[in-house]
Amino acid sequence: MLLACEIRGLPQRIKQHIHFRLFQEFKSKCNLEDPLTAEIIRSVTSKESGLFLNADPREKKFQIKDAFFIIHTKRRLQMNVVKESDLRCKSCDKFVDVMTEHTFCCAKLGKNSVHAPIVKSVVRAFKEVIGASGLVKYEERLDPKPACVKENPRADVVLVNIVTGQKQIVDFIFPTIKEAATDVFSTVMFAEKDKVEFYEKNYYIEGEVIPGAIDSYGRWGDKLKELVSNVAKSGSSCEKEYSQVVNRLRTEIAVSHVRAIGKQINSFLAYHLY
Ligand SMILES: [Zn+2]
Repeated sequence: MLLACEIRGLPQRIKQHIHFRLFQEFKSKCNLEDPLTAEIIRSVTSKESGLFLNADPREKKFQIKDAFFIIHTKRRLQMNVVKESDLRCKSCDKFVDVMTEHTFCCAKLGKNSVHAPIVKSVVRAFKEVIGASGLVKYEERLDPKPACVKENPRADVVLVNIVTGQKQIVDFIFPTIKEAATDVFSTVMFAEKDKVEFYEKNYYIEGEVIPGAIDSYGRWGDKLKELVSNVAKSGSSCEKEYSQVVNRLRTEIAVSHVRAIGKQINSFLAYHLY
């Protein structure tokens, strides 16, 4: 196998060819017959999932702690995060999988801390881009239907167009990989559907509901990709500026996802295994 330092410096077409060959080699070692592995591979090979690798670490907002970077990279490459498969979760007593996906699906671990930091960085990034042309609100109150059981319901992010007054209600969801997912209906599509149905059932909605889905290996739902692209468009004046703005936005969100996932798994490894 070629090392990255040997690939650097070669002409672009040869580099692409080598990367393609390495990827085929990687894929041939994965058990794609297993629906869960196949869905993980589809997730890790999505463009968004790899964005953190190109993030310039000299910029503070793109910095990722070594431990979190390693955890995420290992999971992407299907390398075990924990060596043994005989470790149990302290909270629920179940055996933990070697990728530590259990961190996000444990029924007893309590609220996970992935959601809030990602939403906060999305709000910050959106504000930076559309400060003048739109309004970005964090955790705005929702109007609950009688059937709603949620106390104090709030939307993650609300975008208001100050010219038309139109509202976009963005709510994030970070699902774990679904075994039922297929080539045509992915984990993130399940999550988008669930979120929209939840909103219809529980709230009186004024505006458009946009589910922002990112799965635990970094793949984004189409609705989120479209939203980020539209925010970048409204915050830039020409094609060249748009491509810079959209790249930064995407990278910022992808990096905050890697950080949140890494932090959650890292603390799970430290305190919740025996
Ligand atoms: Zn557990």
